[in-house]
Amino acid sequence: MRATGRFAPSPTGPLHAGSLVAALASWLDVRARGDQARWLVRIEDADTERCLPGMGEHILRQLADCALLPDEAPEWQTQRTAHYEAALAALQAHDLAYPCGCSRKDIDLALARLGHAHERHGERVYPGTCRDGLHGKPARAWRFATHRMPAGDLHWHDRRLGPQRQDVQREVGDFVLRRADGPWAYQLAVVVDDAEQGVTDVVRGEDLADNTARQILLQQALGLPTPSYLHTPLVRGADGDKLSKQNGATAIDTATPQAALAALDTAARALGLRPTAAGHCTAALAGWVPEWRDLYNSRPS
Ligand code: GLU
Repeated sequence: MRATGRFAPSPTGPLHAGSLVAALASWLDVRARGDQARWLVRIEDADTERCLPGMGEHILRQLADCALLPDEAPEWQTQRTAHYEAALAALQAHDLAYPCGCSRKDIDLALARLGHAHERHGERVYPGTCRDGLHGKPARAWRFATHRMPAGDLHWHDRRLGPQRQDVQREVGDFVLRRADGPWAYQLAVVVDDAEQGVTDVVRGEDLADNTARQILLQQALGLPTPSYLHTPLVRGADGDKLSKQNGATAIDTATPQAALAALDTAARALGLRPTAAGHCTAALAGWVPEWRDLYNSRPS
């Protein structure tokens, strides 16, 4: 199969130092695989509430300023809802998705009744209240029926972090596929899109590693192939916290070719690559490809 990688930013803010690392890493990983490999960009605007108008276009311009040009026209998740509908319908047909009428308060009450503090990273582990029906409540969300999948640990391999495991049912619970008010959950959209775009190699920030087991479970439920995964080191702010749009990471400056080159150089160093001596982005990128190949063992396919 043709090696295919992608960068999948959510247009909730401009590219910052952290997201540029993921963009650069996924680009280098594809280029390290040779001329046949494809690098795609997908604007993940499925969660429309958090997206800012015009931000998708802005991100594409920032990438272009850094000479990170996709090999095909970018996809926008808001154009692809029919595909998510079809995937949800397939899961429903196999009893792998069920409607849930619980509010946050209902979930807290149910967890308190069960007597355990089912919380992970500040997120509640859904106790499965609506698995046997809505109990007269209106549906608020569609959830994935993890109890209908094989029980126990799901094992996967990360090209940088090594062997990984997660018991999704116990540690995450029946996660949301779609909220009743419309928006598609990241987990469902990303799995459907990666498969349809033929993505073979997912390279993204380490903050997303925790989602991987859920995504592999969904791939298995939908009969889709599982790509390889590599999660890149996180860029930390001066306060030691990971950089994110939420904690106000500032946009990268790509106003001049020199500024764009400096932004790329900072991202390259976060990946363990040597500072570039090149005078412009295209040359710098080309220079890092063989180094990336050695560091992350991505062989031409
Ligand atoms: N859209 C996600 C984000 O910006 C990334 C999705 C992915 O790479 O799987 O955090």
